[in-house]
Amino acid sequence: MKKRILTLTLSAVLASTGFAVSGAGAVGNGPDVNSKQTVQTAMLTTYEEMADFLKKEAKKQNALELEIIGQTVKGRDLFLAKYISNPANPTILYLTQQHGNEAMATEGALDYIRHLGSGSKKTKELLENVNILILPMLNADGAMGDVNFPLDNYMASGRHLTRFNAERLDLNRDHVNKAAPETKALHLNVLGKYNIDYMIDFHHQGTQEDYFGKLTSGSVLTPQHPSVDSEVVLGSRKLASVLLNDINSKGWGFVLKYDEPSANVNVASNAMALQYGISVILFEMRGMADHSYEPYVLGQKSNGYLIKQAYTAIDATSKAIADGSIITADPSVYDNLPEQHYSYD
Ligand SMILES: [Zn+2]
Repeated sequence: MKKRILTLTLSAVLASTGFAVSGAGAVGNGPDVNSKQTVQTAMLTTYEEMADFLKKEAKKQNALELEIIGQTVKGRDLFLAKYISNPANPTILYLTQQHGNEAMATEGALDYIRHLGSGSKKTKELLENVNILILPMLNADGAMGDVNFPLDNYMASGRHLTRFNAERLDLNRDHVNKAAPETKALHLNVLGKYNIDYMIDFHHQGTQEDYFGKLTSGSVLTPQHPSVDSEVVLGSRKLASVLLNDINSKGWGFVLKYDEPSANVNVASNAMALQYGISVILFEMRGMADHSYEPYVLGQKSNGYLIKQAYTAIDATSKAIADGSIITADPSVYDNLPEQHYSYD
C-alpha cells in the first residue's frame, strides 16, 4: 500500500513537471555491481585509442579541426575537437572526464564526433548554425590510471580509473587556482580564447541516487553562486530544460535535479559562469567506471544507455542552439524539477 502511494506521488510530481512516466524496464534501474562481481574496464576507450580516433576523424571530416591545447602531468596531449563554421554563431563547449573515473560521457562525445562526420544534410545544416567544441577526457592520466599514488583498493579488475590527476589534484576544484596543467590549458587555450556561450560539464555520480525508490539516470544543476549574472543563470536554466525535455521523454531517461547544490567557486559550473559569463550546467550521469567505494561503481552493464544519454544531451542542446529554440525554451522545466535523493546506507 505504501509503495502504491509513493508511485502515485511520483507520477503526480513528474506529470506536473512535464515528464513522461515510463513503465517497467526504464533506465536507471540497470544493474550495479556487488562484491561477487568483477568490474571490467577493458571496453572503455583508452587515451591512445581516443587520440588515434580524433586524428583519423580530423583527416576525414572537413568541418572538424583538431587542436592540441596542452599536456597532462604525464605528457599526454589534450585535444579540442572544433567545429567552427562561423565565429559569429553561438558556441557550445562539451567537457568530459575532468574526473578520470567518469568515462561514459567521453564515449558519448566520441560517438557524436563520429555522427557529425556522417555528411548528412541535417548535420551540415546544424554545423552552419552552431559552433561545437568538444574537449574529451581532460583528465587523461586519471582515466588511464597513470598516477603518482596507489590505486590498489579500487574495484576494477583491469585498467584502473581515478577521479584525480596524476598529482592527486581534483581538477574540478581547481578552476580558480588553475594549479594543474590540465586546468591551466583549459582556461588559457579554450575558455580564454574562444567566445563560448554555453557549456555542459559532464560527470558521473554514484549508483544509488533515486527518487522515491526509482533510481535516476542522471542529474543536472545550474550555477549556484549568488554573484552569477541573472542572464547567465537564465541561459543555464534554458539549457538544462532543453536537455531534460529530450532525455526524459525517452523511455530510459530519468534525470532530476542534483542533490548537492554548491556555490563553490572552484567547481566548473560556478567558475565558468563567474569568470566567463558562460551559461553552464553540470550533468551527472549514473555510476562510475571505477572507485574504491563500491556503491559508486556501476560496472559495465549499463554502458549502453549511459553512452546514449550523453550523446542525446549533446545532440539535443546543439540542435536547440542551432535552430534558436533555446531562446524560447521554458526554464520552468528545470525550475520545477524535483531534487533526487542521495540514498546510501
Ligand atoms: Zn565528477
